[in-house]
Formats: sequence, C-alpha cells, structure tokens
Amino acid sequence: MWLLMKFLFKPEPYPDETLESYLLRLSQDNGFESYSVFSSVLWEMLMERDHEAAGAWPRSLSRVNVYHTRNSSGLRVRALQLIEQMTDLPSMQLLSLSLMGSAARFGQHVAVHRAGVDIPRLFLRTAGVPVCPHCINESAYIRQYWHYHPYVACHRHRCALLFQCPGCEAELNYQLSESIIQCQCGYELTHEQPAEASDELGALADLVAGEPAHSAGSNPLLVTQDQSMRFGALLWFRQRHHQPGMESDQISNNDFSGVVEYFGNWPQSLWQELEETRLTAEYGLTQAYHQTAFSRVFGSLLTACGQLPMRETSKNFILREVQAYLVQLVREHPRSRQPNIGDILLSVAEAAALLSTNYSQVYRLCQEGMLKISKRLGLRQDLHPNLAAFRLRHVVEAKLSYMQSHQDAAMNTYLPKW
Ligand SMILES: [Zn+2]
Ligand SMILES: [Zn+2]
Repeated sequence: MWLLMKFLFKPEPYPDETLESYLLRLSQDNGFESYSVFSSVLWEMLMERDHEAAGAWPRSLSRVNVYHTRNSSGLRVRALQLIEQMTDLPSMQLLSLSLMGSAARFGQHVAVHRAGVDIPRLFLRTAGVPVCPHCINESAYIRQYWHYHPYVACHRHRCALLFQCPGCEAELNYQLSESIIQCQCGYELTHEQPAEASDELGALADLVAGEPAHSAGSNPLLVTQDQSMRFGALLWFRQRHHQPGMESDQISNNDFSGVVEYFGNWPQSLWQELEETRLTAEYGLTQAYHQTAFSRVFGSLLTACGQLPMRETSKNFILREVQAYLVQLVREHPRSRQPNIGDILLSVAEAAALLSTNYSQVYRLCQEGMLKISKRLGLRQDLHPNLAAFRLRHVVEAKLSYMQSHQDAAMNTYLPKW
C-alpha cells in the first residue's frame, strides 16, 4: 500500500483566497526558501503517487491555476486532489478555490469558472495584482477579487487598492515577489494608509465581490443576485461605452467608471441612448429601410447582449430591456406602404437574440414557415448566420405569437425537437 507523504504544517484556506495564495502560504509555513523549491518537492511527492498528474504540474506559481491548462485540466485537478490529501483538507476544498475553464461564453468572450460563477476571462488581471493594506494586515492572504479588473477599491474598508509599491513604485505582483505582505524591494505594505474610495467605486467593489449592495434601490446591476449576470452586465457596459465597435482585450481600470450610475438610471439610460443612435443613423441611411441591415442602425446591440452568459430574460435584464425597446419600436411603426424602421433586416444571430433562442431554432422557425425570410437567396445560397434576412417586424411578431410564456422556458424552445 502507498503511504502518502504529508506536510507538517497545514494552513486552512480562506473561502475567498486564490489558489496561488494558498500554495504560497503552504510553502512558507513549511519553511521552504522559495516557491520554486517547494514546487520541485511537491512535484517529487506527486511523482510517487501519480506520474501523469506530476507531469502536468507547472513549476511557476503564475501557471498553477487550472484554467491555464489546455488539454490536461483533468491531470491538474488530480494533482490538486493529491495536495488536498497531503494537507488533510476536505475533498474539493482546493478545487473550490481554483479558476477552471468554463463552457459558458459572454458573447464572443470565453469564460472561467469559480465556485459556481462564470467570469469573463478578459476580466482577469494578467500582470500585477493590487492589494488592500488593511485586509492583509488583518489576515495575510490574497483575495480572489483582487485579480479582477473591475475591482479597484476594497469593499470592506472602502479604500482604494494599492497597485504600486510606495517604496520602489514597481507594480505589485505577489506571484513574482512570492510575498503577500512585502514588495520585492522589501517594502512592508501593511503600514500603508490608502486613500478613501468614492461611493461609486465602493458599490462597484461590493458587486464584484458578490456582496449584497448597501442601497440597491431599483438598480438591476445591484439587485440581481446572479453573480455571473453581474459580470455579464459589466462586460456589456464596457464593450458598449468604452470600446465602441472594438473588441480590444486591453482592459483599463477606468473602463467601468460610471457603471453603477448608468444602471441606476435604468432603463431610461438605455432607451434614451437607443433613440439617439436610431435618429442619428436614420439620418445617414442611403438605402430603403427594408434593404438596410439592423446592424447599420444599431451596431452589435442584439448580438452583444444575447448571451451574458445566459439568454433567459428572467436573468438577463439587459436582453429583456433591448427586446422591450424593439417590440415598442415596431408597435410605434406599423406596416405601411412606405417601409419604415420596423422593416430593417436582422440576421439569424440577431433574430436568435431577439427570440432568446439558439440558431437552430431560428432555422426551424423558417423551415416551418413561422418566420419569413425577406431576402431572396440564390439557388445554392445557404442562410448564413450573419446575413441580414428577416424583417424586424416579422421577428417581433414571431416572438409575440409563439412565445410559450412570459417566464421563458429553460432554452426557449419554440418548436420541439425533430
Ligand atoms: Zn480591505
Ligand atoms: Zn517595492
């Protein structure tokens, strides 16, 4: 029988601790001079039990989390389960600290997953990780939300996070310095007195950390208890207001400024914005409405909110409001001899978002004659998902007539499977 070697000192992980922070503390509590020495010893211990899992074990702290693995996440999980046994931790406790790859998507953006919550991978800080001096003074470990871009103030102490070392001005990065309370230059971070944070940044920090907001009012971003949707709404806001038309992966800390106030004026903030967009775009149209693509007027409005990361409107309050606006727009512009804004053309992708469903349901609605294609297709031409082919009016009518209920069913199935 194999005897598993165990560590002498076994620190308890904190529920909001990062996996990297826990492994660093495990290494330090057991007297290793550096993480790389600890990591090689750990590798040998793993090797004795499971050489496959050991083979997939990285030497550097910054590569240790599960989402960094491409095809070998199962092996990384096995290695972490062995470490759980070496530290007498209950099964799954280290895995619950890990960031895993996720099958969910936020529009085109991939996601990671931690303890039941999907997070856009784009939100993970890739270089330095800031700290709250008060927090590390109370308990010296790294909080998971310090790794997320939108989190710039401490929600517990209502102060700004420390991004740079006051001693040497280097960007703080505990994975490089291998220290939680000191900068690489030796500067003690626990004595710092950071600046107070504004109410806006405090509220933003609350919602990123998954806390119930202090005064939510009717702000849907603060009211929703669905943490994945909160991240979805933050991403949507950032795409729409700070990177219009661009899919840049470079996030800056200012990308989320004004977000709490914006959703505080919801839905007027959105409706007003959409009306302005529409009137400006209509002024410059060169073709008749029934030949104009929806995206010419509204850009990526529908596709950007169709999946955040869910498409059920009971949770996705942004999609719900965009749908309400478009239904109202069609109501105000009934069919007439002169084509109007109700006749602009949606693609399969946009129709799927407006119907809260998937592409194959849209194709089926076409085949069953429940959704009319308003574009003449060539003999051998397939209906490409991005081809503007359905009048907005017809999609709205399909939505209103075939919708099974207002509480949309799990996947919004309009038609049963073949
Ligand atoms: Zn703090
Ligand atoms: Zn320093």
